[in-house]
Amino acid sequence: MAEEVYLVPNMSSDSRVLVFRRDFTPPVKEDTLQVDAYVIITERYIVLCDTLLCPEDMAIVLNEIAPTLTQRQLLVVNSHSDWDHTWGNRYFTEHGKPPIIAQAQCPQGLFSDASRETLTYFQGHYNTFKHVELIPPTLTFEQSLTIYGGDLTLELFSAPGHEPDQIALWIPELRHLLAFDAAEYPIPTLHEATGVPSMIETLERFLALNPARVLCSHGGTNEISVIEQNLAYLHTIELRVQALLTTQAASTEEALLTATLHEYPFEEVLSTLAPLFQDDSSFYREAHAKNVRCMVQWLFQFQAPNEK
Ligand SMILES: [Zn+2]
Repeated sequence: MAEEVYLVPNMSSDSRVLVFRRDFTPPVKEDTLQVDAYVIITERYIVLCDTLLCPEDMAIVLNEIAPTLTQRQLLVVNSHSDWDHTWGNRYFTEHGKPPIIAQAQCPQGLFSDASRETLTYFQGHYNTFKHVELIPPTLTFEQSLTIYGGDLTLELFSAPGHEPDQIALWIPELRHLLAFDAAEYPIPTLHEATGVPSMIETLERFLALNPARVLCSHGGTNEISVIEQNLAYLHTIELRVQALLTTQAASTEEALLTATLHEYPFEEVLSTLAPLFQDDSSFYREAHAKNVRCMVQWLFQFQAPNEK
């Protein structure tokens, strides 16, 4: 099983923003994952954004950046509570105890039943996770928090949609947006119906910033087009569901879901929005089905109570 954390060059146009990538390629294809973490080197602080999959991953990253840590305070950021962004937190309970910054709802997500079940599953299947413990952030904020690094300003802000505690990070001097999981190539991932309007609002806010680069935690892209395509994708689902809402297909929520997936199959999503995408796992196919379910629930239950 490949266990890799490595520096990815050229993701940022500035040498102060480093991208570390973690590949997890276990025998069970459905558990395969690639996720990025970032290190931002400012005059005053070293800001490590996300802690990857396990404490050992953080040991590798901290070893790589050790020369930059002299005379500077280390700050850790969790972009949201999902496992692939927080499970390295434990490393910092034994090494320097830096502040861990996250949105106020992060602890709730981190200690949810679903999160604990995910940990039990991965620890039961792979040695990689044997030292993982759920370690919460130590500093939280609701809407925004600014880190004044001296040469760079790091503006953290709430960016809900993928998860309620999702944040993004904007560096105005570089016009760099770290979107984390708020945007994703080939498609974003929703977990609940209430995430639909939040995700659309978040993506529109991203576009209004007019970023030069957009870094996402998954998918290896740094193009602003990922935001436009994520928005186009959500609007296409919305239009297809709305067209079906007034027909027989909307007799029940399940019937509407089936009809929408028939009208907007995953193959069409890829061919129109991400023709170069190659991945033989079923992750994004299932993500599409879940996104459609969320949109159907949102429009069926919350938007059109009188049209049923
Ligand atoms: Zn993720």
